[in-house]
Amino acid sequence: MTAIELDGITKQYGSLRAVDTLDLQINEGEVFGFLGPNGAGKSTTINIILDFVKPTAGQARVFGMDCQEEGQRLRQRIGVLPEGYDVYDRLTGRQHLEFAIESKEANDDPQELLERVGVAHAADRKASGYSKGMAQRLILAMALVGDPDLLILDEPTTGLDPNGAREIRQIIREENERGTTVFFSSHILGQVEAVCDRVGILREGRLVADDSIENLRSNM
Ligand code: ADP
Ligand code: ADP
Repeated sequence: MTAIELDGITKQYGSLRAVDTLDLQINEGEVFGFLGPNGAGKSTTINIILDFVKPTAGQARVFGMDCQEEGQRLRQRIGVLPEGYDVYDRLTGRQHLEFAIESKEANDDPQELLERVGVAHAADRKASGYSKGMAQRLILAMALVGDPDLLILDEPTTGLDPNGAREIRQIIREENERGTTVFFSSHILGQVEAVCDRVGILREGRLVADDSIENLRSNM
């Protein structure tokens, strides 16, 4: 089954075409790297998939459902790590998850999620004392609430040191092994190549490549 299907998606802001007749298919179980420089249209595309932005033209479907018609229902099945999201300094790791669980009306066990991202040892510490990598793993745990079938991660490793980025990729791999489809957006090839089955390269709203890492490398 297809996890994400974009059919001629266009988003126009005044005279700027942020996304330009984009066609894209992501299969269930894939880890897809969505690569492109800043301003290429990655966030706009993600926001269209999540039905936060209405496309000027085209159709987006997730698990066969129209994003514009079933946005709210679809968001229940999608875990999102937004770009540049920050933790709340005054809340503990556990409180972050309790908040996320309540917001999504899910019934996950906070401790189990904290274990999955390797911050269970700091569950009752305030996030102000977390390293950057721990904070990002906590945010990733929040995205895992509700056992999503699709994870959309917008620049999840940006700003982390190599070790911190590696830990995030390891968690992505483990979640993928549980059957979760992953959409990994980044402006750095090196961040996605170790974990993605396939990479699409977006430039000025257009897909200029869509292939496996091996094939992309041999064509460079
Ligand atoms: P990114 O790092 O993805 O490029 P941006 O800084 O472009 O993020 O965008 C951050 C937010 O601001 C997004 O929600 C985007 O839709 C919005 N945004 C970006 N550019 C503009 C703009 N020129 N006018 C209004 N909103 C914008
Ligand atoms: P990326 O995520 O790849 O950095 P974005 O999708 O954030 O790219 O932005 C693509 C282009 O659309 C940029 O030129 C950005 O400034 C513009 N843009 C994004 N959101 C808005 C908005 N709400 N209003 C006007 N322009 C926007």
